Amino acid sequence: MILEMHPQRWGDPAHAAPLPESVKGLVDAFIGTRDTPAVDQVRIPAPGLSASLLDGLRALVGEDEVLTDEATRRLRTRGKSTPDLLRARAGDLADAPDAVVRPGSHEDVEALLAWAVEHRVAMVPFGGGTSVTGGLAARRDGFAGLISLDLVRLDRLLSVDPVSMTAVLQPGMRGPAAEAALAEHGLTLGHFPQSFEYASIGGFAATRSSGQSSAGFGRFDDMVVGLRVATPIGELVLGSSPANAAGPDLRQAVLGSEGTLGVITEVTVRVRPVAAEKAYEAWSFATFADGAEAMRTLAQSGGLPTVIRLSDEAETMVNLASQSDIGGEGVTGCVLIVGHEGASVAARRAEVAAVLEAGGGTNLGEERGLAWAEGRFHAPYLRDSMLDAGVLVETLETATFWSNRERLYGAVKSALESSLGEGALVLCHISHVYETGCSLYFTVAARQAEDPLVQWLAAKAAASDAMIESGGTITHHHAVGTDHKPWLTREIGPVGVAMLQGLKGAVDPTGVLNPGVLIP
Ligand SMILES: Cc1cc2nc3c(=O)[nH]c(=O)nc-3n(C[C@H](O)[C@H](O)[C@H](O)COP(=O)(O)OP(=O)(O)OC[C@H]3O[C@@H](n4cnc5c(N)ncnc54)[C@H](O)[C@@H]3O)c2cc1C
Repeated sequence: MILEMHPQRWGDPAHAAPLPESVKGLVDAFIGTRDTPAVDQVRIPAPGLSASLLDGLRALVGEDEVLTDEATRRLRTRGKSTPDLLRARAGDLADAPDAVVRPGSHEDVEALLAWAVEHRVAMVPFGGGTSVTGGLAARRDGFAGLISLDLVRLDRLLSVDPVSMTAVLQPGMRGPAAEAALAEHGLTLGHFPQSFEYASIGGFAATRSSGQSSAGFGRFDDMVVGLRVATPIGELVLGSSPANAAGPDLRQAVLGSEGTLGVITEVTVRVRPVAAEKAYEAWSFATFADGAEAMRTLAQSGGLPTVIRLSDEAETMVNLASQSDIGGEGVTGCVLIVGHEGASVAARRAEVAAVLEAGGGTNLGEERGLAWAEGRFHAPYLRDSMLDAGVLVETLETATFWSNRERLYGAVKSALESSLGEGALVLCHISHVYETGCSLYFTVAARQAEDPLVQWLAAKAAASDAMIESGGTITHHHAVGTDHKPWLTREIGPVGVAMLQGLKGAVDPTGVLNPGVLIP
């Protein structure tokens, strides 16, 4: 059974909690709190599909799999970015789909796409609904209606090849279900983004997600070896070999296509044995730059641990203050979390420790590392408590080459600080590293202005401009959706835009798949 998220908050409603005292003290000191008024008026448009169109859908997938009730439509409206939550909290559900349709097979999806083309109805593939870039906020103008294509029934592990170490998963499996099914075979995928509990296999592929263990297991797009896709012009099956030179790799065109080129109905992934041992620990470095240099050395010597994450000075300060149970005495500078999973952990740990020590790091022991690993999936609930208390909180991310890290970091940080004004907290960490560079992930907290949505959109635009102007990407792993489109155009230029438009025109000539998302 899938646990539904609250339509205006993150995660399991049972986990909602007021702001913890340790965090409240911090917020009072830097930002200040205020009550946000509760909204009792919800503006959800009446379903706009005619009775005959709804009958057509029911004939394809069955009466029970076509849902038009308000509660279900609410749950399939937009994703979980702070702007999405602010709009939902303000009672604005103008983007609600006309119906939620739940196909039970690849063939159902193909039939639904043919129906959508025939009746000019927009289709929005829905995995876990955790998009933070407007990936589910498709345009509806010019269409007879808009349907959320909920892949929840495609939720099985189809096969395992223990010799090649691959598995075929259906797209609607959420992270925990996929890991549980693989664990029965002694296997793991090793993909643990912070949205793991709710996001789906199809969503990971469609957004090119990256999880906390990317240093050890790779990004999700590194894990995919094959795809089955339903498109408006027919079926696409990719990945007949582990590697090939058969022209451009079309898997890479589907990965990250955010439901605009087809609906991913099967994902073949490479898998690994379940970790025999795990060890987490924390280190400190005098400065963010020192810690980043140590990370670069590890990445370039091929000795990365499974998890590696360095907080800057501001994020370290906030984390220490909010983890009052562990105590921050004696910790200065920046904290680095290191996790080792798999075999030969002790030997790998010693090798990494030698590099970190040589780079000026101090070992803080296991407790702080374990506390980070245990608290990881609770952090998104804190955003809701902060929004309740009148604090604007959001995250954004980018990536660049090592030689440009400092410039990009400074540019994005100062763009956010100038836009949000005095008292805003801008925190940053590096949690995905490569031989050639790393990601930068920013968390922002500020006192909410009268219109926090306008306030955030201005700050986000300033930060996005800074990313492109300072040689970063508009997104390392959150994808493009609708929110990042103007900056994607600047990142890939007119030829890149023409290539994307060409692909879209070829497989979805009437444009029914996720209109307005990704493709400029
Ligand atoms: C609190 C929080 C923490 C997060 N942490 C991380 C993180 O650590 N790492 C990370 O990478 N991301 C993170 N994200 C972003 C988000 O979880 C990812 O973008 C996720 O990969 C989307 O998966 P989903 O199943 O929820 O997809 P959805 O939100 O349902 O859909 C995302 C996009 O993919 C399309 N889509 C979904 N399924 C399919 C399919 N089968 N075929 C074709 N298109 C499809 C949708 O139409 C949409 O455009 C976080 C988000 C939140 C809210």
